[in-house]
Amino acid sequence: MNKPRILFWHRKDLRIIDNQALIKAFSLSNAITSTYILDENYSYDFNANSRAWFLANSLQELGINWKKMGSRLVIGEGDPVLIIPELAKTIDAKFVIWNKSIEPYEINRDLQIKNNLKGKNIQVIESWDHLLIEPSKIFSGSNTPYSVYGPFYKNLKSKMNLMGLYEEDKSIFLFKDIDNKFQENQKIKSSDSVLEKFIKSIKFSGSKICPCRPGEKAAEILLKNFINEKKIYSYNSSRDLPSYNGTSFLSASLRFGTISIRKVWNATLNLNEGFKNQENYLSIETWQKELVWREFYQHCLFHFPELERGAYRKKWDQFPWQNNNEWFQHWSNGETGVPIIDAAMRQLNSTGWMHNRCRMIVASFLVKDLICSWQMGEKKFMEMLVDGDLAANNGGWQWSASSGMDPKPLRIFNPYTQARKFDPICEYIKAWIPELSKVSNADLLSGEISNLEKNNYSRPIVNHNIQQRLFKSLYAEI
Ligand SMILES: Cc1cc2nc3c(=O)[nH]c(=O)nc-3n(C[C@H](O)[C@H](O)[C@H](O)COP(=O)(O)OP(=O)(O)OC[C@H]3O[C@@H](n4cnc5c(N)ncnc54)[C@H](O)[C@@H]3O)c2cc1C
Repeated sequence: MNKPRILFWHRKDLRIIDNQALIKAFSLSNAITSTYILDENYSYDFNANSRAWFLANSLQELGINWKKMGSRLVIGEGDPVLIIPELAKTIDAKFVIWNKSIEPYEINRDLQIKNNLKGKNIQVIESWDHLLIEPSKIFSGSNTPYSVYGPFYKNLKSKMNLMGLYEEDKSIFLFKDIDNKFQENQKIKSSDSVLEKFIKSIKFSGSKICPCRPGEKAAEILLKNFINEKKIYSYNSSRDLPSYNGTSFLSASLRFGTISIRKVWNATLNLNEGFKNQENYLSIETWQKELVWREFYQHCLFHFPELERGAYRKKWDQFPWQNNNEWFQHWSNGETGVPIIDAAMRQLNSTGWMHNRCRMIVASFLVKDLICSWQMGEKKFMEMLVDGDLAANNGGWQWSASSGMDPKPLRIFNPYTQARKFDPICEYIKAWIPELSKVSNADLLSGEISNLEKNNYSRPIVNHNIQQRLFKSLYAEI
């Protein structure tokens, strides 16, 4: 009996294991050709060097995995609205299958493709994969989408306790008898050259120091290390120390779907025997809460797509930003003269990643000290971050700007107080600003560095107290 041919479209799910749409595909047929399209309309993923690096390396591994299974990964470039229907026709697919997205552009693009394929009598099957709970299956008591994190977390956690989420390796056996008669369709021109060209175009020299690791295998190792090295048990206190590797570094893996969120969540469930005291218990819970922040921002963007374009609290669209471009450049380059800010921005610029505590400090500084619109920072982060993700990044910036869902009206971080609290012996500052390595900790933390010791390091471009007063007076206007 002939099996229906399937075109499987990888997007933010660059993996084989526990891939919901792929499991569906294999339940229908094992005659599958898979594809990934470098979408010219979604180019921010490959214009950001660190993400291009992560993406290319993950695709390389994924292609090898498909080959091992007797099939192939076709890599295309251009507009998926044109390419997907054409490819489906070329391989004579009866089904095109993918995992759903929450971003406004992707939702609209997918709709166009669905309409096109419908006209060709090709059936589209979509799944939810990127989230623990699909956004239309979790609502507040008043049956509306959530806009506050606390109650969202409570509800999601109670649902998680009831659900059997993930069964280890359930999907693997499905692949053993993949039908390799279909492995090479001569009508599809080789896609190796597209990947090769893409890899050659990447200018990211930080691959040795970026803590995130591309590919399915590496994501699995990151998760195992985070748990086996017992970092998860002290996460509650160590997650805020930028000089210590106390977090999982899984953000890019979750962003590109080289690991399943169900697998990650599941790994937190069976740790009960491991924890000995309240700190261990709290740490596991705090890490789960961070995973739910990721989920929350995606839920919000799905239900409030206007977040992509402006503030959630509309009054912030009227804020009289000063947007001083010179100051913005100093901030971008890590040359503000405020050590903790400069250390963090230099970490971002050279590794493509920045510690979460520092993301909050530099965001507050850009918005509340330099009085630049949060969208300028959001864009810079998107250009640099290996885990750059529309929902998480927008959520993080709106949280820091106080323009988002967070009910707290105004939150201003003092960068010097933050440094004293979270980098008290200046290990992080000295690691990223080597020219200050001889300066005393007290001077680094106060920012009052004598001219003799400066080594060309600049004076602070602004005074925090003066700027804070100015910001508050501007805020009073809106
Ligand atoms: C201004 C700003 C911008 C940000 N931009 C992004 C972004 O583009 N992409 C991104 O993935 N995260 C973003 N974050 C959230 C957070 O900083 C990173 O997810 C985290 O630092 C990644 O490191 P990790 O994987 O070691 O995290 P861990 O501490 O190990 O946390 C586990 C996972 O939980 C999720 N997570 C943790 N904290 C948050 C958070 N505050 N919001 C959403 N998800 C979270 C991530 O998927 C992370 O991998 C941003 C935060 C701020 C304040």
